[in-house]
Amino acid sequence: MPNRSSNAEYIPLRTCVICRRKTEKKQLLRFVLLNSEIVLDLNCDVEKRGYYVCDDNNCLQELEKKVKKILRSRFDYGR
Ligand SMILES: [Zn+2]
Repeated sequence: MPNRSSNAEYIPLRTCVICRRKTEKKQLLRFVLLNSEIVLDLNCDVEKRGYYVCDDNNCLQELEKKVKKILRSRFDYGR
């Protein structure tokens, strides 16, 4: 008999882009870059590169810094 319960035990893990900790996907916040702004992708349905971050003040603050750097380097690239 096929064992269906073994499938249900699969937990998708994502790595926080800041602290590199592996956490259950549903416990992380997913952000995407939209029009040079970082936006929380609540439903995880935006087809852009997502940034997974812990729901943690420190990680969120670091993400903001990281995003600013990414945006700056993008603008520099065009020159
Ligand atoms: Zn983190």
